[in-house]
Amino acid sequence: MSEFISDLAKDVLSGKCGSREQGLALASVGGEEIYDLFYWANKIRLRFMGPAVHACSIVAGKVGECNQDCTFCSQSGHYRTHITGQTFLDTEAVVAAAKESAANGATCYGLVNSGLGPSDAEIELFAEALLRTGRETTLGVCASLGVLTEPQARRLHELGVQRYNHNLQTSRRFFPNICATHRYDDRIETVRLCKRAGMKSCCGGLFGMGEGWEDRVELALQLRELDVDIVPVNFLIPIPGTPLEGNANLTTLECLKILAVYRFLLPSATIKVCGGREVHLRDLQSWMFFAGASGFLIGNYLTTCGRSAAQDLQMLSDLQIPLASRLAAQAAGHQPAAAETSTTKALHDQVARYVQTDKA
Ligand code: SF4
Repeated sequence: MSEFISDLAKDVLSGKCGSREQGLALASVGGEEIYDLFYWANKIRLRFMGPAVHACSIVAGKVGECNQDCTFCSQSGHYRTHITGQTFLDTEAVVAAAKESAANGATCYGLVNSGLGPSDAEIELFAEALLRTGRETTLGVCASLGVLTEPQARRLHELGVQRYNHNLQTSRRFFPNICATHRYDDRIETVRLCKRAGMKSCCGGLFGMGEGWEDRVELALQLRELDVDIVPVNFLIPIPGTPLEGNANLTTLECLKILAVYRFLLPSATIKVCGGREVHLRDLQSWMFFAGASGFLIGNYLTTCGRSAAQDLQMLSDLQIPLASRLAAQAAGHQPAAAETSTTKALHDQVARYVQTDKA
């Protein structure tokens, strides 16, 4: 198996894409050979993404009372969870959270609302917050508001939204097991129309809902077909009160293996570790980069807390992995908003050639 992994990695490094069968073969890797898989996933990450990693942040603009029945979601009105009622953040709070995210080292910042999709009025309610985030920070502005119409996608782009997040969550085959109130194709269509409107596509999945490796590989191939730019990888935190509250079957190495297989199948996408990182990776959080991830969410999640930004910045400093936002600030001649160590400062100087500013 070691030889299969290295041969396939060399193919990917030379620009070939892995197939469904090869993805499934990688998924069957176990024992000590899993470390070979990580070794090569890291090589592929470095080859296609460079050494710097991206941090991004999210803020929940509207929380709760969704009429959809996604079985993993604390915000679905179908289940009795710790989220009750509906709350909205005002413009000042959204902009203040954006400034804090920039100080934490985020490259981009996403406004995330509950619900199947926004009304036109809801988009206008957040218009000023989106515009001000773009004007008053160096962050790339992102949004995740659900299923959109074509005019809504164009309006968001006018408001400065550069990247739209809309996760497919899982394979087409498995999707009916986790949602009965909207269709997989509704989600795919939103991904496509956001790209047509000029936004980058941030689209990934949630793992640990009972899906199999066939579903995980199928999702990766679907994302490749959609040519998505950023792939958020979320690991299920079972929420009491939801139908998936008892699903606690992911292991730490399995989570890392998901990242590695995705790096082989989606070599040039930003693979970003989002929800469930602290819970599932535990002491191995720093391994996510060596398993192929090139980005992560810094700060809190939508309805659960992440660990402190200072801990994540220290992790990067210890690993001597540069943060993309610091490189971009340096290239633009700006002072980094947050303190950095002398080690990371030296590294940022050294690898400034890899500057990729998502703001562009
Ligand atoms: S549509 Fe979004 S907010 Fe509503 S239940 Fe599904 S995941 Fe939760």
